[in-house]
Amino acid sequence: MSVPICRTCGSDTSRFVGRLPVGHVFAGRRLVDAVPGGGLWHCADCDFVFRHPLLGDDVYERLYRAGGLGVWDSEQRREDFQLIQRYLRRWDGLAKDVVDIGCYTGHLLALLPKSFRLFGVEPNLEASTVAATRGVTVIAATVDDFALASAHYDLIMACDVIEHVPDVEAALP
Ligand SMILES: [Zn+2]
Repeated sequence: MSVPICRTCGSDTSRFVGRLPVGHVFAGRRLVDAVPGGGLWHCADCDFVFRHPLLGDDVYERLYRAGGLGVWDSEQRREDFQLIQRYLRRWDGLAKDVVDIGCYTGHLLALLPKSFRLFGVEPNLEASTVAATRGVTVIAATVDDFALASAHYDLIMACDVIEHVPDVEAALP
């Protein structure tokens, strides 16, 4: 088994952690075609833990577009959302425009201080519609479309996204 290059630091010293199971369900919906699990790797140099190989961008986009609503919303007490919410409170009244890459139904954005203007990037149309009811303006369907936009934002967050990005450094501003 060849060792994949770390997508964060470029090191070739990653260690195989284990096989990931084949996926038969995604975002609450049973898949017609199962998604291969691949392997989980840990980079000894930067501690990044990543899946290899990645699925194609087209596969991820199709999976997220077809995802069921309410799957992630049902996780009302997500610890990471609580941490982000607490962390971002320091910009209450200071930051204006906040973007959530992969905002889904706007659940995380809706937890943020009311002084923020909420923007999202989301490929799933049904989820975007729900996000709009939570005061989120969806500005792009994909990260690539978002990268083409010339607007500026005070805060950009991406939760559950980085593990799907082929070149992590290139994806970060
Ligand atoms: Zn690394």
